[in-house]
Amino acid sequence: MKNIAYLSIGSNIEDREKNLHEACGLLKCEKGVNILSVSSIYETDPVGYTDQGKFLNIAVKVETELIAEDLLDKCLQIEKEMGRIRKIRWGPRTIDLDILLYNNENIETEKLIVPHPRMHERAFVLVPLLEIDPAVQLPNATTPLHQILDEIPDKEGVRLWR
Ligand code: ATP
Ligand code: MG
Ligand code: MG
Repeated sequence: MKNIAYLSIGSNIEDREKNLHEACGLLKCEKGVNILSVSSIYETDPVGYTDQGKFLNIAVKVETELIAEDLLDKCLQIEKEMGRIRKIRWGPRTIDLDILLYNNENIETEKLIVPHPRMHERAFVLVPLLEIDPAVQLPNATTPLHQILDEIPDKEGVRLWR
């Protein structure tokens, strides 16, 4: 499998830990997707829409035969299968699977933007991501991601959970 991608997975509707495990299990079942590493689980305060429960977040590194658009479709399919309903933007969710990085590519189509356009401002994304791969970089970046993380003010909202 020739492509490397990093995903961010989050849940804030019970049972949050079970939801993360189920999402990883469904990813593993996908043909052409192989999980290489999974971060620790972090508990994180909601950002954007704050009137909701705390999240559990992980980062996952996969190798895949799928092109990025097809990997996104699999992610959205898993969300659907797990019963995610979209009501409030950035609101409560059973599960959210986002593609953070895909190889070293910049992708911008109607349904997919990679690198994920908000990853650089989210400690709940960068902390688990840097745990599994401390040297990972944004495509064409001059600033290392750990330095970008250092400059985010809301890092206290991200705690190692298990
Ligand atoms: P955010 O994108 O700010 O994390 P969210 O994850 O709650 O918010 P969703 O409702 O899960 O947003 O996704 C809305 C749409 O975003 C998806 O249908 C998908 O087409 C699009 N999208 C664009 N780029 C990406 C990406 N890198 N990963 C996942 N979805 C993406
Ligand atoms: Mg998201
Ligand atoms: Mg999403």
